[in-house]
Amino acid sequence: MDFLGLYLSIPFCRSKCTYCNFASGVFPAAYHERYVARLEEDLRRIRTRARQWSAALPDAADSIYLGGGTPTLLSPALIRRLFTALRREFAITPTAEITVECAPGQLPPDALDALAEAGVNRISFGVQSFIDSEARQTGRLHTRATALEDIARVWAAGIRGISVDLIAGLPGQAHESWFESLGVLTETGVDHASVYMLEVDDESRLGREMLLGGARYHAQQVPDDDQIAEMYTEAIGVLAGCGLAQYEISNFARRGHESRHNLKYWRREPYLGFGLDAHSMLRSRDGAALRFATTDDLEAYLAGPVWAEGPRVLSREEELEEAWFLGLRLNEGVSVAALREEFSPVALRNCQETVAELEADGLLQRIDTDRIALTPRGRLLSNEVFARFLAEPALT
Ligand code: SF4
Repeated sequence: MDFLGLYLSIPFCRSKCTYCNFASGVFPAAYHERYVARLEEDLRRIRTRARQWSAALPDAADSIYLGGGTPTLLSPALIRRLFTALRREFAITPTAEITVECAPGQLPPDALDALAEAGVNRISFGVQSFIDSEARQTGRLHTRATALEDIARVWAAGIRGISVDLIAGLPGQAHESWFESLGVLTETGVDHASVYMLEVDDESRLGREMLLGGARYHAQQVPDDDQIAEMYTEAIGVLAGCGLAQYEISNFARRGHESRHNLKYWRREPYLGFGLDAHSMLRSRDGAALRFATTDDLEAYLAGPVWAEGPRVLSREEELEEAWFLGLRLNEGVSVAALREEFSPVALRNCQETVAELEADGLLQRIDTDRIALTPRGRLLSNEVFARFLAEPALT
């Protein structure tokens, strides 16, 4: 039986981080109520939409994820409304993983109480750096002390699951400060961490400064690609040494604490995304993947209608591509037997040449008689690997 993952995008931030190009921004609080009302409406409508699209929509969900953005900028009353709406439309399993993203220093006591009351059992903290100057330079509003206090407050509120995000490659970051951030993270004893290599989007403020010059966002202090790759590799070793094993390119967990919600994306299990710039994947009644998304324009989203264009039905070729490049993100890799069963022996034979080339290049490896995974070097060059699977010949 399939369980859904439910994602709610809350695109409100107190300040815009210099490297960020998500569909999030600093909007007046007057938007909050309208936005929540829109989400409630979308939740009410999804079953009708799914019927119109002949999509299979599981009744029950075993993961909820509120991200964005900074969901805790919503008032406790609005947070309660969202969870009431979610529970009205879906049967949430008793052991569901319920995660909320938080920016350290932006978790007021009444918001934390509202999250605990709503059954939230996991907080993902966007720390990015435990070095105060690095955090400040990228527009984060916290210090190491506030981040550590917030972690302790969350545990004291009875929410046991905590993930901490760090970014390798922030302006001004050096090996010493990177090790210091990793050391603080591991001392906290959290059960999950995400480590991202900085990828600066040209449209972010930092990206524009890197292209056009300037000193406001410290673009000239961004470490080079080799340094960032070294930091990432160092993180894998440090975190493994503390029991946080890598299970995905950017994700690390103690055994049993992997993010159930995010695993759905990589394993191509059904999920629904609500709110601004939110993506969804359901299966049609005959098993094809249906993908659909909302606009990234806040005014257009609030005005509706959402999902006006309907879903895109993936071809078998596209599904096979996804099976490779999503599955390879995971350290467990891709099961060739499972792909052969889902697609066809011929389709798999068509991929053999690509796999062999990538193995010869040291980017893919066999981890047992069935599974193929990225090598450590392949993880550093994952986009290049994934692109090679996008040019596969047609299925027969
Ligand atoms: S808090 Fe997150 S979503 Fe908001 S600006 Fe910073 S990185 Fe972007």
